[in-house]
Amino acid sequence: VTTAPAEFHHDRWRRVRALIAAQNLDVLLVSSAPNIAYLTGFFGTAGFVLVSADGGIRLLSDARYQETLALRAQDLPGLETSVVPAGGGSQDELLASQVTRLSPARLGFEAQNFTVRQFRDLERRLLGAGVHPDLVAADSPVEQLRLVKDDWEIETLREAGRRLSDVAKCIIPKALAGISERSVAAAIEAELRRVGFDKPAFDTIVASGPHSAMPHYRAGDRTLETGDLVVLDFGGVFRGYCVDMTRTVVVGSGPAGAGRSGTWERSLQDAVLEAQRAAFAVVHPGAASEDVDAAARDTIARLGMAEAFNHGLGHGLGLEIHERPRLARRREGVTLDSMAPGMVFTLEPGVYFSGRGGARVEDDVLATAGGAEWLTELPSV
Ligand code: ZN
Ligand code: ZN
Repeated sequence: VTTAPAEFHHDRWRRVRALIAAQNLDVLLVSSAPNIAYLTGFFGTAGFVLVSADGGIRLLSDARYQETLALRAQDLPGLETSVVPAGGGSQDELLASQVTRLSPARLGFEAQNFTVRQFRDLERRLLGAGVHPDLVAADSPVEQLRLVKDDWEIETLREAGRRLSDVAKCIIPKALAGISERSVAAAIEAELRRVGFDKPAFDTIVASGPHSAMPHYRAGDRTLETGDLVVLDFGGVFRGYCVDMTRTVVVGSGPAGAGRSGTWERSLQDAVLEAQRAAFAVVHPGAASEDVDAAARDTIARLGMAEAFNHGLGHGLGLEIHERPRLARRREGVTLDSMAPGMVFTLEPGVYFSGRGGARVEDDVLATAGGAEWLTELPSV
């Protein structure tokens, strides 16, 4: 995986240390894979990172990643690494010994991610070693940083957005009568790889006819029929970063691609496009994300389809396909972030009429100092 140059990682380290210090932690134990990737450029499936408030940053993993860790340490000056010796000990043991060595008074851990089993195991091993740090559920310091993308991440997401728009242009004409949803999904996923994505970011959605009324449908055996609404929702992972796009087309009868919509189908397509444009127009620094959601929701309500828009407007994109910020109606217990330059998220209004059909349009945007910039775009269909 191509990762950010060292200076970007060093800047992330400076900023995470400041957040750790603000939470009065001596050491932060990072266990979430995307957070580990963000801090070190290591995309393995096993590992921990220990960040000390006063300096060091250490990446731990198992023997399978010995080579990978050595390369990361070479490319990223200041990164210390440890691997479980082949044939000896466990990763839990290695973690406990490294924490013992640092002997923090307050050790933060990621409560959303560090399991109860891992917590108890670490506590028991530290006790055995005579170390008694306060184990503190840290308030998502790395997620806080990931919320606003740095320049390298923005360039990566721009490039990913351009490539995803190319995929859309290529596959929309392939949604033809007589082809199964599953075949269209396979064509999309092949095209994603062809234009340089490492893999799909999620299971591709091809929802045709009545299936288009189900926002979480995937792709099945149904054959596309002339006049069907078809929701195509697809995304890819590029250099570790996720982008996500949806178009709703009407199936034509010939090889020319997307067909002519009937009046009802057109009204759905127009409603979601107009809602998306209204939301885009209100993105500016300091805007509440529920106000961006409301701009789309009010537009759809004005068109008489209020009940048909039954999900949030969008989600943040980055190392994960769903991350902060969330754009939705305010609800108890859900954190909504206000807009800041450098945030990247989707705008994906949809309308769904059970048994009949639905439409959704989704594009990715970057919040900027002056408003917002489209990262995915193609002439509307
Ligand atoms: Zn999507
Ligand atoms: Zn999405």
